[in-house]
Amino acid sequence: MSKTLFDKIISREIAADIVHEDEHVLGFRDINPQAPVHVLFIPKRPIATLNDLTPDDAELTGRLVLAAAAFAKAQGFAEDGYRTVFNCNRDGGQSVHHIHLHLLAGRRLAWPPG
Ligand code: ADP
Repeated sequence: MSKTLFDKIISREIAADIVHEDEHVLGFRDINPQAPVHVLFIPKRPIATLNDLTPDDAELTGRLVLAAAAFAKAQGFAEDGYRTVFNCNRDGGQSVHHIHLHLLAGRRLAWPPG
């Protein structure tokens, strides 16, 4: 698989505003924020889309969700709420093929999304 933009953020070839890092997960602010707080949580191991997940990735995907929820809570959004989204392929609007969990917070979000 060729290197994606997010691999280059993990390896620090491309700069990003990193807000969370642990052994398995990196969190950084989206360059084109769709809410006052918009952070992407990605696995350090590249997985192109949700279609490529296997049961062995259950813990890793859980880590993404836990990292997003912990960040949202630490930033004070637990009570007002926030949204997390995985986009998948064309109809889901996925442009970077390295799975990422969007965390959007800080404004009232419409539903359903467009
Ligand atoms: P979309 O690009 O349609 O939102 P994705 O769900 O694949 O689809 O999201 C990729 C996200 O990556 C976008 O929100 C985009 O703004 C963000 N992004 C692209 N380049 C960078 C970058 N260099 N640093 C941080 N975020 C980036």
